[in-house]
Amino acid sequence: MHTHHHSRESRPVTFEDCIRFHGHSCPGIAYGFRAATAAMEALGVSRPEDEELVAICETDACGVDAIQVIAGTTSGKGNLIIHDYGKHAFTFYNRKDGKAVRITFHRDEATEAGDFASLRKKVFSGNASEVEEAQLHELMHKATVDILHAPADKILRIEKITIDAPKKARIFTSVTCETCGESVADAKTRKVNGKCVCIPCAEGTHIARKK
Ligand SMILES: [Zn+2]
Ligand SMILES: [Zn+2]
Repeated sequence: MHTHHHSRESRPVTFEDCIRFHGHSCPGIAYGFRAATAAMEALGVSRPEDEELVAICETDACGVDAIQVIAGTTSGKGNLIIHDYGKHAFTFYNRKDGKAVRITFHRDEATEAGDFASLRKKVFSGNASEVEEAQLHELMHKATVDILHAPADKILRIEKITIDAPKKARIFTSVTCETCGESVADAKTRKVNGKCVCIPCAEGTHIARKK
């Protein structure tokens, strides 16, 4: 079902590409960038369009965007799995040879320091002065640069692990929900009172519309 497009230019993807995709530079995408590049090197994978690579991210925040850009693993291709445990931890699995690595980071003194945390809280609650906002911006920028340039052995933990192959994205046939009439993948339908319906119809969880 998948059509392979190889139109993507072959120049290497960079941290600049991550910033463009994510919308801003921050420590989170720096973590994602380091994780993806380290994992691909450890697994011997270089082509971002390689769909044999699967990323399992233990966060749903900024870092995931760098993973998508650098490793080419996306939700739509079915090779991006998110378990949001609020951790900068990223596992990569290579379907070609079954090898996997889990990338974690040594504690980050910079972004976990007390003054950083209290400053951040103040800024995000809208109670900071312009000077304090500039201070936080400066600290975030410094942390981002530190994460990007720290020697691998100082910042990264690369663990070779053995895991079961993540399930492949399935190809669905579409059917029509007998209640709302919308098209829905057959594997996602429920039987309610003999009718074949979509999950929102079965559970009453259609997106609430404002009157
Ligand atoms: Zn961010
Ligand atoms: Zn429905």
